[in-house]
Amino acid sequence: EALDKGLEKTKNGLFSKLTKAVIGKSTIDDEVLDNLEEILVTSDVGVSTTLKIIERIQERVARDKFFGTSELNNLLKDEIQQLLAENNSNDFEKFEYGNYKPYVIMVVGVNGVGKTTTIGKLAHQLKASGNKVVLGAADTFRAAAVDQLKLWGERVGVRVVAQPMGSDPASVAFDTLQSAVANGDDVVIIDTAGRLHNKVALMNELTKIKTVMQKVVPNAPHEILLVLDASTGQNAIEQCKQFTQATDVNALALTKLDGTAKGGVVIGISDQFKIPVKYIGVGEGIDDLQLFDRKEFVNSLFK
Ligand code: GDP
Repeated sequence: EALDKGLEKTKNGLFSKLTKAVIGKSTIDDEVLDNLEEILVTSDVGVSTTLKIIERIQERVARDKFFGTSELNNLLKDEIQQLLAENNSNDFEKFEYGNYKPYVIMVVGVNGVGKTTTIGKLAHQLKASGNKVVLGAADTFRAAAVDQLKLWGERVGVRVVAQPMGSDPASVAFDTLQSAVANGDDVVIIDTAGRLHNKVALMNELTKIKTVMQKVVPNAPHEILLVLDASTGQNAIEQCKQFTQATDVNALALTKLDGTAKGGVVIGISDQFKIPVKYIGVGEGIDDLQLFDRKEFVNSLFK
């Protein structure tokens, strides 16, 4: 239900456009497909993903020339579902990380995208499902970042490992992992600085944090989670490009899906980068983080 509400704007935008696209048309012809192409691009699905979807629909329509425009929604829903399935083959059903202890999540992303909030919400959900969680404040660049993480720690009731502002982020990460091992924690979430001033510096910093963490937990980090603000549309795609070049991101969180009509970016990013969307943020509240479920997502979009 929170998902339905969160996707309302994207859904309404998409449907009002789809309805207009088929006015006066009974079959799905080239003109309808041209309109659809424009709709998907302006809904932030991205050009290459849009072309892929259009091509697939075109093929199906060519096979069965009698597809009426009333079928357009269903065809589109089908193809989006299929596309998401190709990149999110295993849906994440629970906030559980059974195989590793501690399971280490390194969170990356530029400032303002909702990184701290996502960490807080995630810690809350993990704790609620029975995990012992610790947070590491390795964004030592901004004093506010450390304070904010501490606030979330208090709110959720999980420990936060921090050092004074300006400390070496790798050293904070090291401390956090050592503390987690000593304390028998299940999940470690490490916040990192979101500076994108230059790619090499970012790469070096993230590599250093990883290397140091591996001195404590050999396979860490198990998850490199990139947080992106869905409401920024194409900017989110550009950030995804930058961060995937700097480090091996293997999970995405897309925030602020509520309040934006740019929810189509979820489809484009997932297709373009072949990285699973793992979490979506649908509000500012502590419970407004969901594990991404492609079926639910598409169903909400086409309800
Ligand atoms: P950071 O700089 O990346 O750590 O960003 P913050 O976590 O401080 O979040 C920036 C703002 O975005 C805050 O006002 C959050 O409440 C808000 N925010 C984060 N996630 C969501 C979301 O899913 N939906 C909405 N509406 N707001 C969000």
